[in-house]
Amino acid sequence: MALDLSQSQLLQQRAEKFLPGGVDSPVRAFRAVGGHPPFVASAKGAYLTDADGNRYIDMFGSWGPMLLGHAFPPAVEAIKAAAELSASFGASTAAEANLAELVQRCFPSIEKMRFVSSGTEACMSAIRLARGFTGRPFVIKFEGCYHGHADALLVKAGSGVATFGIPGSAGVPNETAMHTLALPYNDFAAVEAAFESHPEQIACVILEPVVGNAGTIAPAPEFLASLRRLTRKHGALLIFDEVMTGFRLAAGGAQEYFGFASGEDAPDLTTLGKIVGGGLPVGAFGGRAEVMDFLAPLGPVYQAGTLSGNPLAMAAGIATIEHILAHKGALYAGLDETTAEIAGEVALVAAEHGVALTTNRVGSMFTWFFTSEDVTDFATASKSDTALFAKFHRAMLERGVWLPPSQYEAAFVSAAHGQTEIDAIVAAANGAFGAMLK
Ligand SMILES: *Cc1c(COP(=O)(O)O)cnc(C)c1O
Repeated sequence: MALDLSQSQLLQQRAEKFLPGGVDSPVRAFRAVGGHPPFVASAKGAYLTDADGNRYIDMFGSWGPMLLGHAFPPAVEAIKAAAELSASFGASTAAEANLAELVQRCFPSIEKMRFVSSGTEACMSAIRLARGFTGRPFVIKFEGCYHGHADALLVKAGSGVATFGIPGSAGVPNETAMHTLALPYNDFAAVEAAFESHPEQIACVILEPVVGNAGTIAPAPEFLASLRRLTRKHGALLIFDEVMTGFRLAAGGAQEYFGFASGEDAPDLTTLGKIVGGGLPVGAFGGRAEVMDFLAPLGPVYQAGTLSGNPLAMAAGIATIEHILAHKGALYAGLDETTAEIAGEVALVAAEHGVALTTNRVGSMFTWFFTSEDVTDFATASKSDTALFAKFHRAMLERGVWLPPSQYEAAFVSAAHGQTEIDAIVAAANGAFGAMLK
């Protein structure tokens, strides 16, 4: 089955003249799955349309933001209305506190917050704040968790308990990464050992409370609660990176989903992005007021942004979060049901074709790992047959379903996905497995 991507290929050639790899974010380049990416012309609801007029069911939702589907009418209207009043002022507007109040209604642990323009900035700033507040240098992160591309967080696998971080990118000096401890996800003993070997040196533990950036991996029972107890005992801050899970798993993100939304159980700081901007560039970090007040202008930790709290972005965020708050019961029940059907039915189809698949799903995020073994951390995710995934990706694209172009990414379902899309995805998977195994 051949897909006509001739216009996309011309656009790719043109883009490569001006942009390294033809892209502004490397994950878009299809390197992990081969072939060239379609160039998108427009999107509506659950569907993407490319430059050649091919239509796809969107299973990556702009990498997470599009919870309510593309071109969600209230967000489109809000952005238009805000644009009429000018795109940016560099001065305060009412919209910032309005969105902040809505975010706080969803996340009671966020007593105060600051808006930035990306998840990267949110995580980078939260780490600086945690270091400034505690006066300690070390950060614990987990292998396979992505917290944006700030230098100190671009640390891959440093296996072993007290391994100093090794930069995961050229251009990051060892000195920058050496205060980042990368531990295996779901390995609480490793975290305990790191605290033992770095007494009063660890500023914070940052994690994805459900991993999305190694493919979907759920926290083991007790992992989150144990981290909370341990960080509290040692005077370190616990940071939930909910850039992906915030508003995705529940209105109050993973902390609501797992019952850590408030009081002693809640994280000290939370980072947000993606859905909070309704598709516009927004990130946020927030948490305990005592910690947040360490930020300039009140405190000694510097953090700033020319376009932070941008009026168009705030308007899109407000329209999105207002809708979520007004419909959350039906919204999250529906997302859960739709995603369970898609993930589960395709797993059955795979079994019928004799394909070894491990399906990890939490709410409306999921991953089909091409392995028969349980996936609980980055090491087990790495056992997946990525060549087979690449074939599946291509075969699904040809059948009108656009999955995230890497085994190590979560797929997302939106509120615009319904029975028609479920049936089409299952049928596409049936055809794809059949064609792949020939
Ligand atoms: C996407 C993501 C980020 C980075 O956000 P950007 O807006 O791409 O900078 C950080 N943390 C997590 C968990 C993410 O999924």
